[in-house]
Amino acid sequence: VDVAELDSVVTECRACPRLVAWREEIAVVKRAAFRDWEYWGRPVPGFGPTDAALGVVGLAPAAHGANRTGRMFTGDPSGDFLVKALYEVGLASRPTCTDIDDGLELYGVRLTAPVRCAPPQNKPTPAERDTCRPWLAREIELLAPSLRVIVVLGAFGWQALLPVLRDAGRQLPPRRPVFGHGAHVVLPAAGDARDLHLLGCYHPSLRNTSTGRLTQPMLVEVFDRAAHLAGL
Ligand code: SF4
Repeated sequence: VDVAELDSVVTECRACPRLVAWREEIAVVKRAAFRDWEYWGRPVPGFGPTDAALGVVGLAPAAHGANRTGRMFTGDPSGDFLVKALYEVGLASRPTCTDIDDGLELYGVRLTAPVRCAPPQNKPTPAERDTCRPWLAREIELLAPSLRVIVVLGAFGWQALLPVLRDAGRQLPPRRPVFGHGAHVVLPAAGDARDLHLLGCYHPSLRNTSTGRLTQPMLVEVFDRAAHLAGL
């Protein structure tokens, strides 16, 4: 299986009954502003080059964002905020994203999430996070040869990712690294593989961006640093 195949296979997953029901119900009920859309309503695969040096791990698709468009971080304010920052540091071909046909290209960056189906209230359960973990683990494993840095957007992604990296042979510090905006953890690998850098960053959720907890300059700064560490 390569990354492209994984992206295809994950879209068929129905392992979480609550999330399957929710993603499909949203796709039928829709939001009035998008009533002409045919919602995706399925698990959302990662987006970006399959030999990315920089990974971005979010939370889960938004009900009317990625669950509508079928592309990670596309179609909602979080995605707009993120893509604008990626464009600012030269990691995206355009500053906005609207749908899968908008021509957006990411340079050396791949966006993914620890939970691939839209959850009610944007809150997956720990059981759903654990059920979805093998998809993230497989993606990280396939990207490993090129992956140098992972920006983790929020504590949920941080907690989901650490066991994946441990199981993939990365040495975690004796004290479990704590999530925070600006957190930077270097994870050595066994053998002669290169270090992997984990950078913590607040999630660009509306709650964080509308209150100023996360500003555009803060996000740009994180990706500037990430791009430098990743050699992009
Ligand atoms: Fe499958 Fe993950 Fe969606 Fe659960 S959240 S149904 S494991 S893709």
